[in-house]
Amino acid sequence: MQTKFLRQVVEYVIGKQFEPLVDIIGDEKYVNEFLIAKKLGIEINQTRNILYKLSDYGLVSSTRKKDSRKGWYTYFWKIEILKSLEFLSEIIEKRINNLNNQIKSRETKRFYYCETCNVEHSEDNALLNDFTCGECGNVFVLKDNVKNIRDYKKESDNLEKEIVLLKEEISKLREKEGKRKNRVIKKELKLVKEKRAKQRAVNKLAKLKLNNSVKEKDKKRLIKNKPKKSPHKINKRLVKKKSKKKRK
Ligand SMILES: [Zn+2]
Repeated sequence: MQTKFLRQVVEYVIGKQFEPLVDIIGDEKYVNEFLIAKKLGIEINQTRNILYKLSDYGLVSSTRKKDSRKGWYTYFWKIEILKSLEFLSEIIEKRINNLNNQIKSRETKRFYYCETCNVEHSEDNALLNDFTCGECGNVFVLKDNVKNIRDYKKESDNLEKEIVLLKEEISKLREKEGKRKNRVIKKELKLVKEKRAKQRAVNKLAKLKLNNSVKEKDKKRLIKNKPKKSPHKINKRLVKKKSKKKRK
């Protein structure tokens, strides 16, 4: 189903003769432009031209690789499937709209035509020309709209059916694309979390080392100051205690 739609897109933009392009680059893998040219049986320049045309609508994408020996770039192409289907959906919707307008017009207005020249005129236009053909001088005949309306309705119905299928394909692809994006986001979040945890661990370690070195310094200072401070303080306290006892 998808291939059929992609063929329609290719036909619409670059012509029916290039439909086989879908089989070459419609597989979500980038394909060497020279291989595409070979498979299509056309020159590389023509191949690039049709790919650029599709690229103008965002229907294909490319990546390039530099040839280290020759110094030039080779391009690799693939069809952007979701974008192509969305593009087709827009075209079909426009066509359906157009057909419905035609049907409405045929149902409510009268048209005249010249049987000899097979040229059609609206009623206003026919009136302006006195219901006579400017080319051959024949008198216009009232057009029977029934067949036109029937044909337009048939085409419109078929397109409506097609667009239902197309929309199904599109929503499937969008869902797939959404899941893929979610996976990428989750992976990135995980990496960020891991990076943060690592940084926290490093910070903690640095802090610990700093604390230890401070403690060491304190220890050294305390040891250094001990003989001066401690005996004095203890003596004072002892004196205080003794004096309190005495008072009692
Ligand atoms: Zn005529």
